[in-house]
Amino acid sequence: MLFVHELFHSIQGEGPFSGRPAVFLRLSGCVTPYCSFCDTKEALEKGKEVSEEKILEEILSYKTALVVITGGEPFLQWETGLQALESRLMDEGLEVQYESSGRAGIPENVLGKIVLSPKPGQWPPPEILKRAFALKPLMEKNPEPVLKAIQATGFPPEKVWLMALGASREEQLQHMPALWEICRKYGYHFCPRLHILVHDRKKGV
Ligand code: SF4
Repeated sequence: MLFVHELFHSIQGEGPFSGRPAVFLRLSGCVTPYCSFCDTKEALEKGKEVSEEKILEEILSYKTALVVITGGEPFLQWETGLQALESRLMDEGLEVQYESSGRAGIPENVLGKIVLSPKPGQWPPPEILKRAFALKPLMEKNPEPVLKAIQATGFPPEKVWLMALGASREEQLQHMPALWEICRKYGYHFCPRLHILVHDRKKGV
């Protein structure tokens, strides 16, 4: 059984899978203390308990090749259902991508691709960072701490997707020119948040 906040079909708006139609499975719960700036606070509550079988059935109904599993912090539920679900998804030939902050660690036997979004001041240790397929940090108003943290990881620039700050379309557009220059200078991917640009503050899209 898994605690689920929402499941919906959309387009991946961020990171290396950006632009691809995908089913999003947002699992409930995160590591405490919660981040004060959390933009998915509604997913921190316990959520609805759903069987792996039922989740799989709904995911397959969308006939989409990519499944994005996010949260909250999805790996908190690895032992209690997520590992079993991943295995079923892969048996069906689906591609699995995780969105994680790394705050709950990364289980040894994860097979899906992990896109790691470290939170300000909470960058995971090297043993967690090395498990990431890509890094997707959020650019802050003062870029220096983020840039230093990225460089300290030793990740090659082509594995870094630097995201524009802002939870609304207006804020995104406002911060993009600075992000553009930073990405050009350091060789990182310029990572707009497409769902915000298209739908503004609307959730579940
Ligand atoms: S790690 Fe992410 S989901 Fe969890 S509290 Fe922090 S911002 Fe929210």
